[in-house]
Amino acid sequence: MSVAEHEFIPYRAEQRLGRGRALILAPHPDDEVLGCGGAIMRHVADGDPVRVIICTDGALGLPPGHPDPLETRRQESRCAARLLGYGEPIFWDWPDRGLGYGEELLNQIQEAIAAWQAELVYAPSCWEVHPDHLNLALACAEAIRHSARASQLVFYEVGVPLWPNRLLDISGLSERKQQAIACFRSQLAQQDYGRQIAGLNAFRSYTLGPQVQAAEAYRVLSRAELSSPPWDRLHLPTPEALPELARSLRLPRSPYDRSVSLSEYCYQEHSQKCAGFSSCPNGSC
Ligand SMILES: [Zn+2]
Repeated sequence: MSVAEHEFIPYRAEQRLGRGRALILAPHPDDEVLGCGGAIMRHVADGDPVRVIICTDGALGLPPGHPDPLETRRQESRCAARLLGYGEPIFWDWPDRGLGYGEELLNQIQEAIAAWQAELVYAPSCWEVHPDHLNLALACAEAIRHSARASQLVFYEVGVPLWPNRLLDISGLSERKQQAIACFRSQLAQQDYGRQIAGLNAFRSYTLGPQVQAAEAYRVLSRAELSSPPWDRLHLPTPEALPELARSLRLPRSPYDRSVSLSEYCYQEHSQKCAGFSSCPNGSC
């Protein structure tokens, strides 16, 4: 059996991922811009209603003793919102690194989808490793699987590159995206997100020809596709395995330990089914 190259990565840039009411779920204040700032601008330009929800308060993104971490981070997202042109973000204020996978989060997401009558739901991808990012990815996938509404899930990338099936041309938008990223001054003081995301978006033009200078990568999945491989790197054998995985992410302390934990889970639970999971131990995946 042969597989065409375009089944692994798109060779065509698109100007939009879809039309309709867009709901963007961001784990922290800044992910909405880093991951899908270009898509938000394109929806706004097309006249699509856009709602952005920031799930956690982002308090751990500021040094201990900061006088007002929550309001600082809120103001940064509001500043970016004005530049992107979508209005006012909504803040759920889950504790940073405390976005727990479970009924409460699932219900909250399902209610948000229903209230906004969302047709496209943006979430960080299932390849992310930060626990808030991954838990939100898993919860959004589960919420849409059980949603009566025909929403599409649009995975975006922040900390870990995803496996894309759509590439959005943001050549004409990348300068304004950088301006929006510049709103997150408290975060830029700690890490050069502007340079990193510009690099990622530039790399995503690799298969798109010289006319495309920057692109955002996405994996767009229908409700039916969410229930079947190959999107699901985890290949969870039972519904119970999902909350178990979410809990396992919280145990280790360091980023290195966390990745090992996830890999071990993958190996122990799905030893022959881990294709696409690059760091499974002892090479058996
Ligand atoms: Zn984040």
